[in-house]
Amino acid sequence: ETRRYLEHFTRGFADARVSPSVLVLAEHARGNVAPATWAALRAAQQVCGGTLSSNGNDAKQTGHIEVLVFDRVDSDMGAVLKQLAQVDGVSRLVLVCDGHCRYPVAEMLAPVIARWSAEQGYSHVFTGGSTFGKNILPRAAGILGIQPLSDIMQVCSPWEFVRPLYAGSILARVRLVPPSEPSSKTGWRCWATIRGTAFEAAQLRHDDACPTELDITDKARQYLQDAAPPAVEWLQQTGANAERPRLESAHIVVTGGRGLRDAEHFQAFVMELADRLGAAVGATRAAVDAGMCANELQVGQTGKVVAPELYIAVGVSGAVQHLAGMKDSKVIIAINNDPEAPIFQAADYGLVGDLFEIMPALLEKLSNS
Ligand code: FAD
Repeated sequence: ETRRYLEHFTRGFADARVSPSVLVLAEHARGNVAPATWAALRAAQQVCGGTLSSNGNDAKQTGHIEVLVFDRVDSDMGAVLKQLAQVDGVSRLVLVCDGHCRYPVAEMLAPVIARWSAEQGYSHVFTGGSTFGKNILPRAAGILGIQPLSDIMQVCSPWEFVRPLYAGSILARVRLVPPSEPSSKTGWRCWATIRGTAFEAAQLRHDDACPTELDITDKARQYLQDAAPPAVEWLQQTGANAERPRLESAHIVVTGGRGLRDAEHFQAFVMELADRLGAAVGATRAAVDAGMCANELQVGQTGKVVAPELYIAVGVSGAVQHLAGMKDSKVIIAINNDPEAPIFQAADYGLVGDLFEIMPALLEKLSNS
């Protein structure tokens, strides 16, 4: 059995020497490509033969990258396409124009992504590990019966990746197993979400030697007609505070926890400090569950993953599920009245004291400076 498996595996790697072809699903808003997409494009560049990780064991591969973009109602598509066309290694931008795909509804986009990918035969389909990516990619992969990988943190080879397990307590090195049927026409297919904080932004092209082709497709209508009728309908979007930086890409994040007690104190201390510093606002799950702030602000295992230059945690205990979303922050400051709180183990600077005394004093100091 073992010999048979190893033979199969070795043959799989021989088959895998074919050039990777990577489709990146682009997320964008208000004319800007999302930071998570820049990271996914960087991972795609690494798969296609840019710089593999130092312990990557594959020889240099060459491949090509295509990007699937949905025309969105609230975005400047010209600006988005221009940004994507500058990415090194991207040979084609595919713009999907269809009234049903103008909002990020997974039930609408997934059948289109699945059918397009199957027809084009990409070896890899990547997207950023943001709410957009986590919502859409597994659903599209499921339609094709493909098991996706989530939260890739490192590309070791086109078929081998590092991803977190148990809220980041363990980093697993995982390798795609070749298709069970050696003659399988589908070949190896890797669908993955890419952790935005683990990759730098994609490299831009140095010259216009190979300009990016633009393909505008109206196949979505046909694909959606052939798919099962969606069970949901787009009604409206209530946006996050567009004035503040995006949580996932902010340089400074101020996060509030249950220690703040209520929404009024969350607003008066956490949001106020964030606005004074030009920071994004984060929250623990306990704060969200207590109704202090919106769910989209949650940082952690089941929230957003952030790695800002500065992370200020106010009234946060530092549960492992919260640390999973912020422990890669460069500098962490914690304010907590319990000297034994686990957050102090992760913090670079700790302030032991009552936040109801510290926060007003801090805000006053800032307004005087
Ligand atoms: P608490 O743990 O109650 O901590 C409040 C802190 O405030 C305490 O340390 C206390 O000392 C301090 N405090 C109280 N009063 C004051 C004061 N006056 N001055 C200063 N400090 C004060 N949590 C997340 O955050 N993100 C996730 O994504 C997430 N996912 C989860 C997934 C699963 C499957 C599970 C089981 C849990 C998850 N949790 C998540 C919940 C997590 O386990 C914790 O319950 C949560 O993070 C605790 O939030 P907290 O630190 O705000 O509250």
